[in-house]
Amino acid sequence: MESRGPDGGPGTADGRGVRSFAVARARRSRAAMLRRAAVAACVAALALAALAGVGAVMHRGPFARWRTAAAYDPSRWSLIVVNRWNAIPSGYPRPELTTLRNGQQVDSRIYPDLQRMFDAMRADGLDPEVTAGFRTNDVQRRLMDEKIAEYRGEGMPEAAARARAERLVAIPGTSEHEIGLAVDVNARGRAVDDNWAVYDWLAANAYRYGFVLRYPDGRTAVTGNQYEPWHYRYVGVDAAAAMRDGGWTLEEYAGREGA
Ligand SMILES: [Zn+2]
Repeated sequence: MESRGPDGGPGTADGRGVRSFAVARARRSRAAMLRRAAVAACVAALALAALAGVGAVMHRGPFARWRTAAAYDPSRWSLIVVNRWNAIPSGYPRPELTTLRNGQQVDSRIYPDLQRMFDAMRADGLDPEVTAGFRTNDVQRRLMDEKIAEYRGEGMPEAAARARAERLVAIPGTSEHEIGLAVDVNARGRAVDDNWAVYDWLAANAYRYGFVLRYPDGRTAVTGNQYEPWHYRYVGVDAAAAMRDGGWTLEEYAGREGA
């Protein structure tokens, strides 16, 4: 090892240069350590941010939000927030159901407004129908199993098939169809143009009847669901108008209301 002072000259006989060299080396190694620590912190922060991002968007990984029971207040029944993070609570009463002419069922409390909405659509020349209303947990489970089997049949491994199915089908216990407050509305016959005429009408008018587009385009991070132009949720006329004015999803509106 060479014994040089900080100026690069030879060490002096009294050893000052040697000490200076040792001090400078200690400083340099401290600085290097700090740099390494800073780089490590940056890398860790980026990794955490990536995981959190995956958790928020894909609903997977260590930063995916836990699923808990949805808060349920009978006096505010139409505002219950059920989604992939908030399951239907075990004490949720089985709804009293009204059966529509095509056999679909809905919670009887939403039926009068649903009927008014359909009357208005028909008066405007549309021919809509409720293609999905209330579903039991068993039916929701079967839909999920069928979707997983379909992807398995395409050669996908179990975990991947389930993850993909859960992006399209609500996890049993977390579907609004299981509480009877949601309806899928399509055109009878389901021609694409006819469907879109129905969806456009609903997007513009459903709030007048207490229904909201539950999974708007671009709000997946908030609702946990992809855009579904056919899926309408009953929240009541006042809440639907407020949500429309504020541009809020049910999650955001219920959060503001302290539900
Ligand atoms: Zn639906």
